[in-house]
Amino acid sequence: MNRSQWLKLTGPQQIRENVYAWINPTGDANAAIIIGNESIFLFDALSTPRQAADLDKFLKARFNKSVTTVIYSHWHEDHILGGQVFADDARILAHPKTCEKLYTEKERFVAYAQKERSDIAADLVDARLIIPEETEINIEINTGNNVIQLMHWEPAHTEGDLIVWLEKEKVIFSSDLFFNNMIPYIGLNACGYRRCLERILKLPFKYIVPGHGNIGDRKSVERLIRLWDIVGSYAASEKNVDKILDPDSLPSELAEYNSWIKPTFLEEISEYVAGFWELFVRKITGSSA
Ligand SMILES: [Zn+2]
Repeated sequence: MNRSQWLKLTGPQQIRENVYAWINPTGDANAAIIIGNESIFLFDALSTPRQAADLDKFLKARFNKSVTTVIYSHWHEDHILGGQVFADDARILAHPKTCEKLYTEKERFVAYAQKERSDIAADLVDARLIIPEETEINIEINTGNNVIQLMHWEPAHTEGDLIVWLEKEKVIFSSDLFFNNMIPYIGLNACGYRRCLERILKLPFKYIVPGHGNIGDRKSVERLIRLWDIVGSYAASEKNVDKILDPDSLPSELAEYNSWIKPTFLEEISEYVAGFWELFVRKITGSSA
């Protein structure tokens, strides 16, 4: 899929009755929208107040209900810095580990995001961090229209990753435990991340809404797992990290991933392989190269 095809699939996308994804046209974080019989539930709050204001405008124009619950999937700034737009009317909730992390980082969080994300820094000038309240996890939330299962499995992308599973509708909102047609940012724990991908596949879902990228299906997850395996076995077989960092020496099976959205694919994949090498090979062999 090229970029213009992809852009057609961004913005609000209805998946099932009362279930929508907001696919961020910038490639930044997506959000889930679930319309209850009295109010609206959001999973993630987009990357900037301006992005969240666009989402809010859509919700107000389309549904005569207010957002009363926002759950942050994890602490990364690109998923939560639109939160202030909803904070007057909504409870903002997250995994206890996410709350703890944000509380610890609260003084420098926005400044750090502005520095890291120079591309959206102008949109973050007025951003405020809303510290969430702790949510219970592994619970069901009945919205009157749908039953949301809010789940946490293990430390993976971050320590407090949450996913939303709609069993009846067969829709999963994975947040950053899956990226579609993009090289994922693994984050905290590559082994945990890989196990979470397997657990996602065990759920009988039909549609998956990733943290970044357009809506996927089972094949999309299988494709990422295959990439993981190609990269993992190459990283484990190659003892020379300089060679791993050289895009010309990568396995030829990676060619099928050249269409993934990021244009700097080969550089990124080299870093990715190097990350695997760091995680698996150096630990196993005790190599200090
Ligand atoms: Zn993230």
